[in-house]
Amino acid sequence: MVKGARANDDASVSNSENKNASSHSHSEKSAGFGNSAVELSQHIQAWRTAARNPRVGALMRELELEAQEQLRVHRPVCLASGKCCNFEQHGHSMWLTGLEVAWTLSQLPSAPTSSEVTASVRQGNCPFLAQGMCGIHQARPLGCRAYFCDQAGHGWQEAMTESWLGRIRSLHTDLEIAYRYDEWRRLLGAFSAQEQEISVGAR
Ligand code: SF4
Repeated sequence: MVKGARANDDASVSNSENKNASSHSHSEKSAGFGNSAVELSQHIQAWRTAARNPRVGALMRELELEAQEQLRVHRPVCLASGKCCNFEQHGHSMWLTGLEVAWTLSQLPSAPTSSEVTASVRQGNCPFLAQGMCGIHQARPLGCRAYFCDQAGHGWQEAMTESWLGRIRSLHTDLEIAYRYDEWRRLLGAFSAQEQEISVGAR
């Protein structure tokens, strides 16, 4: 969710702001990818479909506005160091829900390919990082909107992202879709693989 959540790529890591395992999100542990490939593919399809539901868009926009308001109040400084997007180099990662990934991708003209995601994992950064800048700034996930390495971002951002996660989880329940919370690139890789499967199947 937030740079939503940057914690180590260990499913048991929680969102904390310590330097060794900082997280752009909340303290919830990942549900992980305990599903079979078929189940996961079905969940991804359900998240993609749900991302077109106006209720999802309404909640995401509402949370984006909340982030803007919190930034206005707390004024954390961003030096555009790229620290928040170079995960391994700075000892953190980003975790979010499958529905948030589907929502983010639904706002983009195209998704990263499996090989692009793999390359970003190898490089330890985000596949959308381009020349030190976010290549999807307008559509970046909630986590990216709430995480700041500036100390002024500490404290309030955890409370905000915990609140967001509760509301996003409730929406999963209302829409009767599976809830999964996992690392950004792992989810992106799963989405890319599913898209590839569909395109191969359509030939
Ligand atoms: S989506 Fe953009 S802001 Fe978020 S981690 Fe990737 S490059 Fe950084």
